[in-house]
Amino acid sequence: MTQKGKIGVTTDNIFPIIKKFLYSDHEIFLRELVSNAVDATQKLKTISSVGEFKGELGDLSVRVSIDEKAGTLTISDRGIGMTDEEINKYINEIALSSANDFLDKYKDNSNAIIGHFGLGFYSAFMVSKKVEIVTKSYKEDAQAVKWSCEGSPEYTIEKIEKESRGTDIVLYIDDENKEFLKKEKIKSLLNKYCKFLPIPIVFGKKQEWKEDKHVETDEDNIINNTTPAWTRKPTELKDEDYLNFYRELYPFSEEPLFWIHLNVDFPFNLTGILYFPRIKSNIDLQRNKIQLYSNQVFVTDSVEGIVPEFLTLLHGVIDSPDIPLNVSRSYLQSDHNVKKISNHISKKVADRLEEIFKKERTQLEEKWDSLKLFIEYGMLSDEKFYDRAKSFSLVKNLENKYFTLDEYKTLIQENQTDKDGNLVYLYTSNKDDQYTFIDDAKNKGYDVLQMDGQLDVHWVGLLEQKIEKSRFIRVDSDTIENIIVKEESAKVDLSEKQQEALKEVIKSQLPKIEKIEFMIDLKALGADSRPIQITQNEFSRRMKEMSSMQPGMSIYGEMPDTYQVVLNIDHPIIAKTINETEAKEKEDLMQYASDNKTLHQLIDLALLSNGMLKGEALSDFIKRNYEGLNTDK
Ligand code: ADP
Repeated sequence: MTQKGKIGVTTDNIFPIIKKFLYSDHEIFLRELVSNAVDATQKLKTISSVGEFKGELGDLSVRVSIDEKAGTLTISDRGIGMTDEEINKYINEIALSSANDFLDKYKDNSNAIIGHFGLGFYSAFMVSKKVEIVTKSYKEDAQAVKWSCEGSPEYTIEKIEKESRGTDIVLYIDDENKEFLKKEKIKSLLNKYCKFLPIPIVFGKKQEWKEDKHVETDEDNIINNTTPAWTRKPTELKDEDYLNFYRELYPFSEEPLFWIHLNVDFPFNLTGILYFPRIKSNIDLQRNKIQLYSNQVFVTDSVEGIVPEFLTLLHGVIDSPDIPLNVSRSYLQSDHNVKKISNHISKKVADRLEEIFKKERTQLEEKWDSLKLFIEYGMLSDEKFYDRAKSFSLVKNLENKYFTLDEYKTLIQENQTDKDGNLVYLYTSNKDDQYTFIDDAKNKGYDVLQMDGQLDVHWVGLLEQKIEKSRFIRVDSDTIENIIVKEESAKVDLSEKQQEALKEVIKSQLPKIEKIEFMIDLKALGADSRPIQITQNEFSRRMKEMSSMQPGMSIYGEMPDTYQVVLNIDHPIIAKTINETEAKEKEDLMQYASDNKTLHQLIDLALLSNGMLKGEALSDFIKRNYEGLNTDK
């Protein structure tokens, strides 16, 4: 006998709403139905384990199959099944009324509905013109029933014959959604959402390569790994298991640097494995690699708000049934539990890095260059992480030795403190380009750090704020005597006229380079220091570099680079020039300058040591020097 009824909701238009508003995300129906099947199977396993179900469990796989001719997609399980009362209760009343509540709540905000899910069973109607539930409860002498509904509040339910326990959900795919009858489509969806479900999911048969083509075997094709590494105990896992799991997640990636196995059960449930990838350059490209699961069901791979911003650079899996999934992102970010989770993950990451630092410092040093971007990012964006990381974050000097910040401070304290008590950290962003300046620093017995990372300019700014009386200065920012001023520098004892004449002469010989401005500066650096040096002020260079990374700050980037041309008035050649020019008139100065090969050479040498001598100027320089060579020897 076929019984007729009306689904107990007031809104008649719930089906059109389901179709319309959930349209953008309609593929999630498969996840909902397969996870219902998995839940039903696990419930049976539980009931059986406590002795309430005494029958044979048998094969518990969930099967997904397509009948293209009939236009159906079927999800079958051998779980607990449902009696007709249970269908009434769970499908006709509870499930639909919760779907209805949900839609009611968001009826004025269709955007809030799109991108959500959580309609469970009823999401089947996003892609189907008709849905059948064919089910038989595990209970003794249960009567199998078939529920059928054609996308209107009316359904039918009838008694049927069904041999095996469990449920088949049969979807009659509608015309607009024919793609869900394609094998490849279903395969890719199963792979996306169901890859790590705890019950075997069978889709078709395994294939074999035989006589130059794929042929089907008799063996079931199980698409999932039911015990992914994060669900197992850390003590059971070897490094190789973690690496294998990483390959399973990201088949084409390089091996990760380290990993953390998260395993929390209080005050929330959270498991997962986070991997530190080898980050090379572009931070943005590396995001969104963490996958979020809820009881092994894939939810999303955009985890902003759930993990701290800098940790979105990590790879791996987080699984938590406690993350509310049916809510909007903005709600998620203000959710108390989610905040706790985020803080917890950040703390765990710091713990793990600290542990590596304490137990395997050489490992940390070996991998530091790849890890550094990530840690600096963390220190810059998360105050708490900074406080943790300051004890294990490292700096590398030109001898490729690594130091903690404290160790380094001790190393340079004595020699690199200036007359005002500031500790000066010297660094280079390019040891070849800045070689002459590095050499000057080394000659003074100073140590130079390598800072060539993408975030270093921001990071040194942060360290200056955090480390009292400290300054970070790139070696080519000034003459070394001026970078670390040990004593009041000697005064430039020249008349106004002498200074003007010298500046005119030099200025007339400086090349015109696009977007570069030169400022001439006179210093008494002693007869042994270089006659001309070209430097770029630390502060203005840093402003430019920082603004070039920030959108909307491009005015700084547009401005020309200003370089200081430092003339050492103590050097014999410069002293001679001063003598020879002080009495000259302007035109005579120009003539003097253009005839003066030595000055020309000095300026070119200074430009050359900064990598600023290029193109025609460089070619002239080389020619001139060839001509000067003595061919007799
Ligand atoms: P939820 O799974 O969130 O409870 P659903 O709408 O997906 O909501 O399902 C409603 C209820 O229907 C489930 O709680 C379960 O009791 C029952 N149900 C759904 N699918 C199955 C199934 N394959 N086997 C047994 N019971 C099921």
